[in-house]
Amino acid sequence: MHIDHYAVIGHPVAHSLSPRIHTLFARQTGQQLDYVAIDAHPDGFPALVRARMGADLSGANVTVPFKAEACALADRLDSRAARAGAVNTLRREPDGSLSGFNTDGPGLVRDLMTNLGCDLHGAAVVLIGAGGAAAGVIEALCEAGVGRLCVANRTASRAEALVARFASGWPLSACTLDAVPAADVLVNATSASLGGAVPALPDRVVCAGTLAYDMMYGAAPTPFLAWARERGAANCADGFGMLVEQAAEAFLLWRDVRPDTVPVMQALRPSS
Ligand code: NDP
Repeated sequence: MHIDHYAVIGHPVAHSLSPRIHTLFARQTGQQLDYVAIDAHPDGFPALVRARMGADLSGANVTVPFKAEACALADRLDSRAARAGAVNTLRREPDGSLSGFNTDGPGLVRDLMTNLGCDLHGAAVVLIGAGGAAAGVIEALCEAGVGRLCVANRTASRAEALVARFASGWPLSACTLDAVPAADVLVNATSASLGGAVPALPDRVVCAGTLAYDMMYGAAPTPFLAWARERGAANCADGFGMLVEQAAEAFLLWRDVRPDTVPVMQALRPSS
């Protein structure tokens, strides 16, 4: 029986849930594939990708810290990856060339709208952070019809530079953390929660109906979600749903079938 091979490539990557997610997707959809985690040397990503994507791998997910390098290696990019300057999904084409995609944005939007029942149309969205994760979701949020999207970052110049990458006509602005407006949807795309910190936001950003969303996830509420709940956020969610949804988008790109994410989320959600 022929089996196609896929992998997530990162450093470190042992903690990644992607092999378990894609194994469940494959089982559910009857696809013949295997999926492993590959820990790449920090200097060895391009050589590894050229060797493996030219041989056994049909596709790969790319995670920290290689998303920008993957962008540079791809022969063609979808518009989200091109604007973000970050690729999280590589696909080997029949002619051997490499296509690069960014599925983080569709993954976030699907988690917000389908899993969490959030109506993004006309919503006032504040996106905290200006790194790769923030860059990857801006286009998808705008396409979902948000009313306005304010990108705020600790280093304000990075938020301004990120917003400037997008064509005028999109409902986008940049600001400092202390100047953020009240939000219907407040998305934390910083890595602050990794160090147990919360971005220095004013309390007014949270109002009664605010959905607070942290791209980080874990068994316990993240520091950002605890902060938002204390200030009265009506709904709080972490990024576990986004993780599974962005994986489903990658699976669709590779296998032309979209798996049902609900049972996979139920099976793998971290619990304390
Ligand atoms: P980057 O390193 O590219 O960016 C980090 C960002 O966090 C910068 O904007 C930085 O601000 C900001 N930041 C870091 N510490 C603080 C702090 N203490 N206070 C305020 N701002 C801070 O990281 P990524 O964009 O790649 O990832 C961000 C997060 O998103 C990570 O936690 C990652 O795990 C998560 N993620 C989750 C996904 C999912 O599927 N759920 C998918 C992708 C990412 P400055 O510019 O000032 O340094």
